[in-house]
Amino acid sequence: MVQGAQYEDLRRQACRGLVGTESDGQRFDGYGIGGALEKANIGTIVAWCAEELPRDKPRHLLGISEPDDLFAAVAAGADTFDCVNPSRVARNAAIYTADGRYNVNTAASRRAFLPLEEDCDCYTCAHYTRAYLHHLFKAKEMLGATLATIHNERFTVRLVDEIRQSILDDRFDDFRTEFLGRFYA
Ligand SMILES: [Zn+2]
Repeated sequence: MVQGAQYEDLRRQACRGLVGTESDGQRFDGYGIGGALEKANIGTIVAWCAEELPRDKPRHLLGISEPDDLFAAVAAGADTFDCVNPSRVARNAAIYTADGRYNVNTAASRRAFLPLEEDCDCYTCAHYTRAYLHHLFKAKEMLGATLATIHNERFTVRLVDEIRQSILDDRFDDFRTEFLGRFYA
């Protein structure tokens, strides 16, 4: 796990220290990038680490999941992610969609007999409506948080799938502009 917060010398030192502990027969299969990450510096910090770490080993970034942060981290060289955010905000009724985030516990969803997100293939969107989730949150039923989490996790995983495909198709920058333009519109 690479530590070092927003300090370039500490990040590079941590990377070199980890790589230096490897010996024949004792190698890491990948590297974690953890510690404090300031949103404005995510790309910069990941880029320092990407310069120091072996190119042929995956780099796992912890603690980010907002769409703009995912794009910034991938552009700088991060490969995989994990984060509690999609489930944490789901517990407060916040729903991610391609058109941005909304709260399903507001009056706008009370009689919305449609999925949390049109065209989403998750279990929640296949079986339940916004109106039902609105009811669950108002009634303080735990199931609301569970169903919202299923959707937000699927949204996040699908976004990373699409980012990967855009790299394979050599259209990462176009996809980034298009996705973020719609999400943060
Ligand atoms: Zn869904």
